[in-house]
Amino acid sequence: MKQFNLVYNSDAAFKKELGKIRGWCHSHTANTVVFRIYTQDVSQEHIEHLCKILDKEMPDALYFGCTSNANILDGVLTKAQTVVTCTVYEFESTKVAMLQFPFTEENCREDVRQLAAYCEANPWVSAIEMVATIMDMSMKGFCDEMSKLREDIQVFGGGAFNPDMDDERAGVFSKGNGFLEHGIVFLLVGGRDVHIYSMFIAGWKPLQRRFRITRADKEVLHELDGKPAFDVYQRYLNIEKNDKFFSNTLEFPLFMEHDGIDILRCPLSVNEDDSLVMSSDMEENAFVRLAYGDPETILRSIRQDGQKVADFGPEIILTFSCAVRRAFWGDVNISKETELFSSVAPTAGFYTHGEFLRMNGDMLNFNVTLVVVAMREGDSVEQERVNFYDTKLDNLEKIPMIWRFVSFIEAATTELEEMNRKIALTAITDGLTRLYNRAEIERRIRERIETLEEDEEHPVSLVMLDIDNFKKVNDIYGHKEGDNVIIALADILREVSAEVPGSSVGRWGGEEFMMLLGETGVDEAKQIAERIRQRFSEKQFPLCKTQTASVGVTGAHSGENTDTLCNRVDQALYAAKEEGKNRVVRFD
Ligand code: GH3
Ligand code: MG
Ligand code: MG
Repeated sequence: MKQFNLVYNSDAAFKKELGKIRGWCHSHTANTVVFRIYTQDVSQEHIEHLCKILDKEMPDALYFGCTSNANILDGVLTKAQTVVTCTVYEFESTKVAMLQFPFTEENCREDVRQLAAYCEANPWVSAIEMVATIMDMSMKGFCDEMSKLREDIQVFGGGAFNPDMDDERAGVFSKGNGFLEHGIVFLLVGGRDVHIYSMFIAGWKPLQRRFRITRADKEVLHELDGKPAFDVYQRYLNIEKNDKFFSNTLEFPLFMEHDGIDILRCPLSVNEDDSLVMSSDMEENAFVRLAYGDPETILRSIRQDGQKVADFGPEIILTFSCAVRRAFWGDVNISKETELFSSVAPTAGFYTHGEFLRMNGDMLNFNVTLVVVAMREGDSVEQERVNFYDTKLDNLEKIPMIWRFVSFIEAATTELEEMNRKIALTAITDGLTRLYNRAEIERRIRERIETLEEDEEHPVSLVMLDIDNFKKVNDIYGHKEGDNVIIALADILREVSAEVPGSSVGRWGGEEFMMLLGETGVDEAKQIAERIRQRFSEKQFPLCKTQTASVGVTGAHSGENTDTLCNRVDQALYAAKEEGKNRVVRFD
């Protein structure tokens, strides 16, 4: 695999470069030649002119390309409007094919079915590179369908764009198929000697606080946690609703959780109703987190992930980077992200309207992301590897201050969440026994009774207990001993409750307890009550020796309310006292 990176400035210079490639191909084994053309000049005329030159100068070569926001040549943002990269596949075993289709939201699934049929008929296909016009289009149908392709086929590529982010004109083209304003081109590659390593680098980091997407429609994000989506940007980042919205939110896109992968989505604008127009589809019920981008964090992540590309030993590298990254960095600094790659292998690519990468079978449509594809034919050549870690990146050794702040916020948030959890628990817990308090056990009974239907399979019972002659314990042995007796009964109740599914137990009053048996019939409830009474009566105390409790048991009737149920169990308990205490009485 040999790569030539060139630009188009004039016909004469371009033809001269093509002549050199022809020369190289004559003196080497050139199996297939593929040109990729990325151009900021979106006019059909310009593109057709280039195609004509290629048709004439390199009649056997394949070519395809798209309009772009800007181009990457030799790893850096180039001023050249049109970049032409030429890959010469040298191995006889390598196969290449190209497909182009009109591409709209309506027909995209059909396109992919045709692609899939081609792949079925040609089992050699192992990777698909794509360029497509995707503006104002939901990519869900396309991605769903692409995910059904043979599992081992890699897919990567980018969305055609325009140098002016607000200009919707874009196009794709390929040899023999002409230029399409709404189109997609697939370059299919395979063969036993082709090796491809594809990956994505975001570099933006998520903040801990998660929000659920409670309402979204395609790329319009209506609500997060039930509130207008703009609230999050206003409340947490103090970003206002003005014409600076896009540039202010660039540093804070959203990470959306999709099957365990965080996918970045950029807010493009705010609507009147405070919904946000995002860079691609948002999934209802998915979680999102605000992400922050800062240059040093991004460069650190590129240094780390770039090493994997270097270790692969590629002969060529393609980059599909988001136009939003270019806007974030600015043209002076943007190349810091990609320049290192060109010390590994010839690197070219373009700034896209969206990046594509298939991961674990799942076709993903990213934004704000850099997709890097490393390719080679044959084994990786033993050569001195570029060491990304050794590369000094401006001031990278110093931890950026924003990291310190983010670390502070995350630590403080964790503490607050833990505190909130404790407070919430305290609010429903009885201090002495650690069982539920009266309010909570009552709430649980009420909740269970509300959902109680005439369903014999899910009966509900209550067990109410009161320690016998408890005043005496306090009077004779002191309050402390009294507390021990209360805690002892609470512990028995907790242990028994842990063994009974659907049960909860709470302290009803001083030495009174209530047990809700949410999935237990009254017969079994009586046995459970008897077991508790027995165990408590056998418990030995240091001063007051043994104590007893009286127990009432009842089962819920269909259609009754919480009050009548609680009254009946209270009456059963009263009856147990009347009948001589230390016993279980059941009222039906
Ligand atoms: P009976 O067998 O009829 O239930 O008699 P009893 O003595 O248990 O009667 P009663 O239910 O009226 O007595 C409850 C006593 O429990 C009154 C109160 O002083 C005591 N008590 C309530 N809460 C606590 C507590 O948290 N700790 C201690 N040590 N005593 C408590
Ligand atoms: Mg009592
Ligand atoms: Mg009592």
